[in-house]
Amino acid sequence: MPTDTFNFSAPVTADILIVEDEPKMAELLKTYLTAAGYASRWISDGREALPQVRSQMPDLILLDIMLPGCDGWQICRELREFSDVPILMLSARIGEEDRLQGLELGADDYICKTPFSPREIVARVKAMLRRQRSVSALPSALSIDADLHCASVDGVTLNLTPQEYRLLKALAATPGRVFSRDQLLDKLHDDYRPVTDRAVDSHIKNLRRKLEPFFDGRNVIHAIYGVGYKFEIIEP
Ligand code: CA
Repeated sequence: MPTDTFNFSAPVTADILIVEDEPKMAELLKTYLTAAGYASRWISDGREALPQVRSQMPDLILLDIMLPGCDGWQICRELREFSDVPILMLSARIGEEDRLQGLELGADDYICKTPFSPREIVARVKAMLRRQRSVSALPSALSIDADLHCASVDGVTLNLTPQEYRLLKALAATPGRVFSRDQLLDKLHDDYRPVTDRAVDSHIKNLRRKLEPFFDGRNVIHAIYGVGYKFEIIEP
């Protein structure tokens, strides 16, 4: 009988939901995830994804795009209406358009299946889970009061404009997730002035300046080249 001794060096276990219609790929992923110390479950029909998530919330979802029943884009869109669970999209296709579409719909990361590298996928999973754990244990507590439309760090209220407040609220609600400029523009929607991508950049610049003193001078809003911004507190 094999022993469980390898578990001592394994990461804190997590429950990974695999949504993939190719049994060989799913089996390989399960094998690698198990070896890395993670629990996983597998479904092949896109229509089963949301009921699975609702019945038991996984810690992360590996989501294929081309699926029978309901494609990965649709699943991602519907999931984001009620959950912030990390989503790593798997696709045979490559290209910036797909990548952007995935991020627009709320996917956290995107990986190409050709060539298929379960090792790389597991490495990404580890990184995503680690990131999530590190942001959930913040030294400085940022809190957002949606009723009062204000934000504070460790009890000190930030002096933000309504636009800065809306951007911070959107970004900080899901630390580590990249938002495109278009998505952030939507958050500024009820501003009566016509807004452009440049407006987002300038509000972000001001927001950074106001936040830095509360985080020991560290920047917490990071630019992702060609895509947009994310909120993340990176420990020194
Ligand atoms: Ca597929």
